[in-house]
Formats: sequence, C-alpha cells, structure tokens
Amino acid sequence: MDAMSEDLERLKQRIPLLEYLQRHHWRGHRVGTGPEFAGLCPLHEDTHPSFYINARKNLFYCHGCRRGGDLIRFVELSRHLSFRESVAYLQEELAPTAQLLAHTAAFYQLELHRYPEGVQYLAERGVHDARLIEELGIGYARGGNLRPHLQALGYSLERLLEAGLIGPQGPDTFCRRVIFPCRQQDHIVNLYGRSIGNAFPHRLLPRSKGGLFAWESVRQFRDVILVEGLFDLAVLWQAGFRNTTCAIGTHLTPAQLAQLRENPDRCVYIAFDQDQNQAGQNAANSLLPCLDQAGLHVRLVDLPAGQDPNSYFTAGATAKDLAHLLEEAASL
Ligand SMILES: [Zn+2]
Repeated sequence: MDAMSEDLERLKQRIPLLEYLQRHHWRGHRVGTGPEFAGLCPLHEDTHPSFYINARKNLFYCHGCRRGGDLIRFVELSRHLSFRESVAYLQEELAPTAQLLAHTAAFYQLELHRYPEGVQYLAERGVHDARLIEELGIGYARGGNLRPHLQALGYSLERLLEAGLIGPQGPDTFCRRVIFPCRQQDHIVNLYGRSIGNAFPHRLLPRSKGGLFAWESVRQFRDVILVEGLFDLAVLWQAGFRNTTCAIGTHLTPAQLAQLRENPDRCVYIAFDQDQNQAGQNAANSLLPCLDQAGLHVRLVDLPAGQDPNSYFTAGATAKDLAHLLEEAASL
C-alpha cells in the first residue's frame, strides 16, 4: 500500500461510517444480529428503508438509488464534493483547525463589543442590526491580543503561524479588521477580514473558503441572490433578503455550482458591483455560461452605475427599491 492509500485507510478508520452518519442525524436500525444497519436513504427521497450499512466493512449500499461505497464516496455524493474535496472535508472534521478557528472567531466576536471602532465601521457600511451581527458571528480584531488568548487555551505559537492567524512578525493577520466567520455545516472553515483602515482591504486565511456563504440557511430558497461581498450579503439579509448568498468574489468553484444546482428550478439573481471599469459586469457575464450549462435560470440585477448592493443601501435604497430591481432583472 502506498502512503496516500494508507492515509486514506487511516482516515476511514478514524471516522467510522456509521458514527459519521449518526452524527449527521441518520437513524438506522440493526438488521438481525450482524453488523448491518438499515434506514432511510440520505441520498434520495426515500419512503421506506433502502439504505444499508455494514458497520464492520464500513460500506453502504442503497437499494433505491443503487449507490454505494465507503465514507469518502458517501461524502462525495451527499455534499456534492469531488474526491479530493471530500478527503479535505473529512480531514477538517478530525483536525483541530476548525476548533482553533471557532476559538478565534468567538474571541473576535467579544472584541467587537470591547472597542467601538468595529461597530462604528459596521454602521458606516450600513450594518446596524445587533441580532444580525450576532447571527453572522461578526467580530473585530483590534490586533495584538489574539496570541496570548489562544496560547492560554493551549495552542502553540507554531500552530497559530501555521493557520495564518499570526504573521511571522507577530501581530494578528487580521489586525484592525472586521471579521466574518465562513461556516460549512457545523464548522468554521475560514475567516474573512475587512480592513477598517487603509491596510489592504480584505484578507482570508490561506485555506479553502468552503462552499457558498451561509448555504445551510439559503439552500431552502428556490431563488437566490448571488453577491460579491459579505457586506453586500449583510445589508441584504438585514433588509429581509435572506435568500442572499456569496462566494466572496466573482468566481464559483465546482462545489459551489453544485450547491446552486441542488434545486433544478432555481433562479440565480446576480447582483455584482456595477463598477465604472466594468469589472463586476464582466465577471457576471463570464459566470453566465457556466450557470446556464448547469441548467440554472439566471437574471442580472441592474444596480445604478457605480453601485454595489452595499453602497446601494447605504445611499438610501429600501427593500422595496431592491425588490423592484429584482422584478426588472433581465432574464437570460
Ligand atoms: Zn438511495
């Protein structure tokens, strides 16, 4: 066995398939006295138990949708991830990184209420609903105090450097930034920081951004609004457009595209920046063919020149104004 398949074997041993499914709310019953369990299939609309697991072999098979395999295969199918992404996802479940990021996000969230400048910046960008700020887990990194906090929790300096939370010169990577945690399912996969000063405007940790932002709550909507940035998302949520999601940027990964495709009747309203230099418009236009090929309906939201959804609202637009733009959005 080569090193790679040894690693995969170890990964599968460390996360038994049955345990993984139960953790993700699958209910199965033991069949007879053997290692087999049966229950409703999580991969297709199932009305009577056709999903079987062999807990000893760590394999599943569904007699309804006729799919089967090991844990990695299950993650590929259930989360619409590639093989490599599935392995990364499972490693994340085991790795303490998610926990480290959760500790960091929680710390920054407290810091937001300790220093006025973070909340002030949010207000300038039109984000003022305290409940929404809490719900999105928005925080503030004043800089300089994350390291002692995390070291007191037992994380080594090496670990913090490796995660990219601390720069080699010592200060927090996110110094003087408003922080949005990016979640995927139940764990934080990255942190997005937006500078409140004149440092480089935004920053993410050197790791995957994960799927579409807040997809767990947005996926229930047939029609979704896709925006470029998290401040766009925050003001839209605040105005009641809870069907807004974001890829942080204008490019969609195959996994994010697959998320949009979960509902074949879905219409995607693209509300990118109306930049003077056409960057947002060009990005929207280059997304069109891949959304179209994926069989999604697409509409382009025509914001006033020079505006993005965030500035549109801070300039005084109301939910009614945006609803009108959505109605008028050109179908393609
Ligand atoms: Zn099935």
